[in-house]
Amino acid sequence: MEIAPNIHRIPCIFAGNRIVFVHLFIGTEASMLVDTACAHNPQQDILPYMEKIGFDPAKLTYLVISHSDLDHQGGNQPMKAAAPQALLACHNLDKAWIEDTEALITGRYMQFDEPHGFVTPDEVRAAIHADTLSAPIDMTLEGGETFRLSPDWLVEAVHTPGHTWGHLAIYDRKSKIMAAGEAALWNAILDVDWNPVLPPTYCYVDTYLATLDRLMTMDIEIFSPAHWTLQTGSDVGDFLRESRNYCLHVEQKLLDFAKSHGTFTLKQAIEKMGSEVATWAEDGNSLLTFPFNGNLQRLVQRGQLVQARNSENIVTWSLPT
Ligand SMILES: [Zn+2]
Repeated sequence: MEIAPNIHRIPCIFAGNRIVFVHLFIGTEASMLVDTACAHNPQQDILPYMEKIGFDPAKLTYLVISHSDLDHQGGNQPMKAAAPQALLACHNLDKAWIEDTEALITGRYMQFDEPHGFVTPDEVRAAIHADTLSAPIDMTLEGGETFRLSPDWLVEAVHTPGHTWGHLAIYDRKSKIMAAGEAALWNAILDVDWNPVLPPTYCYVDTYLATLDRLMTMDIEIFSPAHWTLQTGSDVGDFLRESRNYCLHVEQKLLDFAKSHGTFTLKQAIEKMGSEVATWAEDGNSLLTFPFNGNLQRLVQRGQLVQARNSENIVTWSLPT
């Protein structure tokens, strides 16, 4: 779908019922694809879309990856094969996980295993490897870079951390469109039918809230996020505010849980109060590790909770004595 002249929002389907939108900006001098979805999506969705609109991937100048996650970087290798001249770029802070699938798995997806007593089965690791064909990064960004796509058209990389450290969104000042990725995660991640399917996986709460505050001050007419419907006009502010409110709501619920339950682990918080914050079906609760851990770390930083380890060496939280 062309959401403004020469700006395309391309749906990519993965994992049966999931959807991720990648973006294509086509200028007269240069062009940019933002994200490559999963390993199969270039062949299944992105390249057929390009063919349909008469865009030759040999003309692609930049391949910018919004952040390190399998459904945003997984198609890097096949996309690079289809457009070898395109420079593959991402934020410096997400580079290590975008270049190396094994580093992404151990650093991001298995980060809760040892400290919190979770076990990532081998078949899950193998499935992530199959979905994520990484490639070396040609160029790193810090946010603030502009890309001239036509003599009178620049787009800008905006550092929007929170879901990852190096999350980037692409802003077009001319159309006031933000290709937003997961800069804001609302109160759930949605599936292909727009039903809530997973928790909003923000991770670093202070930076996430700062990102939302920053986006609220920007002149955005069309907010085009990765797993949600297009937000326009006053809906943009609502989407950002609701993202912020939900994150703070979860934090308060965790503090209340500490008051009513005493010492608890991440697993216990998910089992005993996950359903109280869920707008999604119960099997999505396992990914509450990301937002819960983010909120709990912030409560520890502010001195509202204390972190320790129990006799099984599992991380616990409790109110300060
Ligand atoms: Zn993500």
